[in-house]
Amino acid sequence: MSKKVDVLGIEFDHTTKKETIHTLEKRIMKNKKTFIVTANPEIVMHAQRDPQYKKTLQSADYIIPDGIGVIMGAKLLKNPLPERIPGFDLMKDLLHLANKESLRVFFLGAREEVLNKAIDNVKRDYPGIQVAGCHHGFFEENDLEVVSMVKESSPDMVFVALGFPRQERWIHNNYHLFQKGIFMGVGGSFDVLSGTIKRAPELWRKLNIEWLYRLIKQPQRWKRMAFLPLFILKILRTRN
Ligand code: UDP
Repeated sequence: MSKKVDVLGIEFDHTTKKETIHTLEKRIMKNKKTFIVTANPEIVMHAQRDPQYKKTLQSADYIIPDGIGVIMGAKLLKNPLPERIPGFDLMKDLLHLANKESLRVFFLGAREEVLNKAIDNVKRDYPGIQVAGCHHGFFEENDLEVVSMVKESSPDMVFVALGFPRQERWIHNNYHLFQKGIFMGVGGSFDVLSGTIKRAPELWRKLNIEWLYRLIKQPQRWKRMAFLPLFILKILRTRN
């Protein structure tokens, strides 16, 4: 994973999901600390407005394109990315790896009952995983007890489901305190893992219209998608 593709100042890795998992597996086995961001157009646009957040993203080891908008943007910039890598799919593949290798996983974020249900499902579906620990996502951002709890559990993977930009900020601010582990912000993934929110059926996902399914199921999200035309506009302006 060396080639980078610049989309509005965010350097995405030119990679596939398979290659990413392969790279991450090697890094875990070497206890190499890793910060992964899965960025969609909303995140890229937020970084335009918030330079500190942009720096946070730039400090990640890997930035993966989550969202068809990023793929479209890269194509318009004549520097295409190989495929969309939904954060949820990457997390599932990592859980699969953790199951196979009996790795320690920490789950940080979401509402307490969602988190507990998600963990019950993980224990059922991935019995090989060692749940290193968990904590709900409603704590003060600089709460050191939460950081100590994660650190003392000595996790190989930490999934942080606080929604952006909080999750990336939390990882960035505390990263230096950890010796090892894969750290990844996973947004609303625990809601899906717990069964609280259903993911789009496979056909919708294959057609790259997962965003439409989410919009139909959670119409209150429309505001979060309204910036997509602005993203494309900005790409077109950059290109010209
Ligand atoms: N959340 C949290 N703490 C907060 C705010 C949000 O743990 O202070 C959780 C929320 O319960 C949900 C997730 O973060 O599980 C955010 O989900 P959202 O769908 O907004 O994220 P996206 O996938 O769109 O980034």
